[in-house]
Amino acid sequence: MSRNEELFERAQAVIPGGVNSPVRSFRSVGGTPFFVKSASGSTITDADGRTYIDYVQSWGASILGHAHPDVVEAIRDAALAGTTYGAPTEREALLAEAIVERVASIEKVRMVSSGTEAVMTAVRLARGVTGRSKVIKFAGCYHGHFDAMLVAAGSGLATLGIPGSAGVTAGSVVDTIVVPYNDLVALDRALDEHGKDLAAILVEPIAANMGLVPPAPGFLEGLRAACDRVGALLVFDEVISGFRVARGGAQGRFGIAPDISVFGKVVGGGLPLAVVGAPAAIMDHLAPIGDVYQAGTLSGNPLATAAGLAVLSHLDDAAYIRLEANATLLAEGLESAFEAAGINTRITQVGTLVGMFFSDSAVTNYAEAQSANHEIYARFFHALLDRGVWFAPSGYETLFPSLAHSATDLVNTDEIAIEAALSLV
Ligand SMILES: *Cc1c(COP(=O)(O)O)cnc(C)c1O
Repeated sequence: MSRNEELFERAQAVIPGGVNSPVRSFRSVGGTPFFVKSASGSTITDADGRTYIDYVQSWGASILGHAHPDVVEAIRDAALAGTTYGAPTEREALLAEAIVERVASIEKVRMVSSGTEAVMTAVRLARGVTGRSKVIKFAGCYHGHFDAMLVAAGSGLATLGIPGSAGVTAGSVVDTIVVPYNDLVALDRALDEHGKDLAAILVEPIAANMGLVPPAPGFLEGLRAACDRVGALLVFDEVISGFRVARGGAQGRFGIAPDISVFGKVVGGGLPLAVVGAPAAIMDHLAPIGDVYQAGTLSGNPLATAAGLAVLSHLDDAAYIRLEANATLLAEGLESAFEAAGINTRITQVGTLVGMFFSDSAVTNYAEAQSANHEIYARFFHALLDRGVWFAPSGYETLFPSLAHSATDLVNTDEIAIEAALSLV
């Protein structure tokens, strides 16, 4: 038995499925998940001592690559002064200033410990500000695991939400309305019915949790106009896109100002930290100034703010140009690998993000993402893994080239992708 198998067996005895977040279990691709021993830059090493070129990068959290020396040093320095106080620190103000300076739509932020928590706060804030209850989300967009956002994907017509998990009551999703991504006609129908009760439209401005699905031209503009028309707030969930696709996030890249923004992953520098941000007139509805309650024992944690500041200080315009060049090389490598193998794929790229679907036609929404061939994805995943490249263990995820990926990493990935693609036919 390999060390990975041994650890998986032990973990399964004491942790449901052996993992602390479901996708890590390799359920949708099959096989035994590897257990991580260490990671450095672009690579990750498992308990059996095998090293992989890593395109998961903690689901995008590690934009500089793993264990960047400046980030490690910032965390070590912070830890030596204590790891949590339950009182404010200078770094919280510094990180808030760094975010406000980068994102034009934001004047104030509140820090929390996970993306889920940040979206939860954003939804409560939108309801508190508007005095309304309904929220529109889009099928296939992921906004964390709290009850109101765990709603089964509707298709075709806008539909009232049906709980997407056992333990989520009908009552907790009764105010969640699901509309297909990139479908302004369905949105209009939903607004006809629910517009006057609508607190917010919540969207991933670049959908990156159903594979990578770019917003269609005009879609985000349509959402902005719709919110203005019915008096609802536009909430951009930039937990993935924030500080990754541009210095000012997807909203900076597309030039659209949401009312409330949510950031996670990159902004925490690999530690548990996420952020809700908005103009002061909205943010000041939060306690202790306003009447929307929100709190957290570890919020604005000293280690996480130190890591976040260290990471943001590296993300200048040149960094995004380099990151996008890496993403383009990865996307082009995948294109040519599948061309060589004669397999139809759709490689999607939005700036620094790359996705892939085994599909004959373009993927613009969740229904189309679901009809891509996920069985071939699972085989491709294992063919890559056997050859030393780690892609996401699910066809509904995005690939995250980092700033640590070298030209050699990308050339090696290309060569391995060709072999892996040819092994499928
Ligand atoms: C990861 C993610 C979340 C949830 O963040 P957690 O830190 O895992 O709770 C929310 N929204 C989007 C778009 C995400 O990608």
